[in-house]
Amino acid sequence: MSIERQAVDLRHEDHVTAGELSIRIYSSGERAKRAVGGLAACWALAGVTLFIPIAHFVLVPGFAIAGPIVALRLYTQDQAMLDVKGPCPACNESVTIELDAKDKLPLWTYCPQCRASVHIDKR
Ligand SMILES: [Zn+2]
Repeated sequence: MSIERQAVDLRHEDHVTAGELSIRIYSSGERAKRAVGGLAACWALAGVTLFIPIAHFVLVPGFAIAGPIVALRLYTQDQAMLDVKGPCPACNESVTIELDAKDKLPLWTYCPQCRASVHIDKR
């Protein structure tokens, strides 16, 4: 598992500060392992829901079909956004903004300290 760091700008109105973005990069081996894990989890759920009367008509084929779809998604995801660290451009507090794995730059979010809107973009 490798973590890549990138310099980013944190902007609030016309104040700009320098932040650091952390991205997790998945190797092809890790992607394959995650894909197999996703497939196994979906098919395990299909097996468990087999014993739920009536609902199993929907749940079992649902999880069986979802398995390969989830596996493909996990396999094609080569990176995951982690967080941005830096001084908030509004309140100047040092903050860590947690990101969603699928977030893409540029993006709008909020300062966890002062709730000001923060625009994160590549340097
Ligand atoms: Zn702030």
